[in-house]
Amino acid sequence: MGEEIVGGTLYVVPTPIGNLEDITLRALRILKEVTIIAAEDTRTTKVLLDHYNIQKPLLSFYSQNEAVRVPQIIQRLLSGESVALVSDAGTPGISDPAHSIITAAIENSIPIVPLPGPTAFVPALVASGMPTHEFIFAGFLPHKKGRRTKMERLREEERTIVLYESVHRIEKTLTELLECFGDRKVTVGRELTKKFETITRSTLYTLVHNYTFRNSKGEFVIVIDGKES
Ligand code: SAM
Repeated sequence: MGEEIVGGTLYVVPTPIGNLEDITLRALRILKEVTIIAAEDTRTTKVLLDHYNIQKPLLSFYSQNEAVRVPQIIQRLLSGESVALVSDAGTPGISDPAHSIITAAIENSIPIVPLPGPTAFVPALVASGMPTHEFIFAGFLPHKKGRRTKMERLREEERTIVLYESVHRIEKTLTELLECFGDRKVTVGRELTKKFETITRSTLYTLVHNYTFRNSKGEFVIVIDGKES
């Protein structure tokens, strides 16, 4: 028996990053029992809900409509509805929208129940074989402004560095990391938990000079060795 769903509570629910089996029993129960699900991409969430035979009203909540949605969701919570927040994949708030609704809930003394669950950087970090006792999760590098500054700051980091990257920039980012850091050990986790999952343990120099990801599709986590102390 799980806990009872409490009205007026915001549940933060991680969802799979590819493999639909990667969802907890508690997450499924909460998705079944809340009044409404606020979802970054309602089509993606519908696939998950259909897979588990869950019928539930969905409300879109993504970066471009956050300003409108936050007061609406807060109003619903204050009127006693229970709301589950999910993102496209993984944990809401980890390189995904959630911060605005979380801070608004805190300001309005609305209880928040955060569930543990899937997130892409943990499996990549653990499988990299690099030190995990201390690491820095740096999310996506900025596309333009501040990109070089952030790379230069990360270059001095002695802890293992974890970055997110999309298919559009993976080659460019690895090339620029090589230019900025020099050669370093790197692990790239691609399409984690999916059919074509690959985990490549190599060096920046080798990946760049072999064009390893030139025609690769998918989503990527980059794990780089920290600077030698
Ligand atoms: N909220 C998600 C989480 O908890 O990991 C992250 C969302 S962020 C918008 C998307 C990025 O996460 C992708 O560009 C990629 O860097 C990483 N990612 C998500 N799923 C992945 C997967 N299956 N394999 C590798 N990287 C993934």
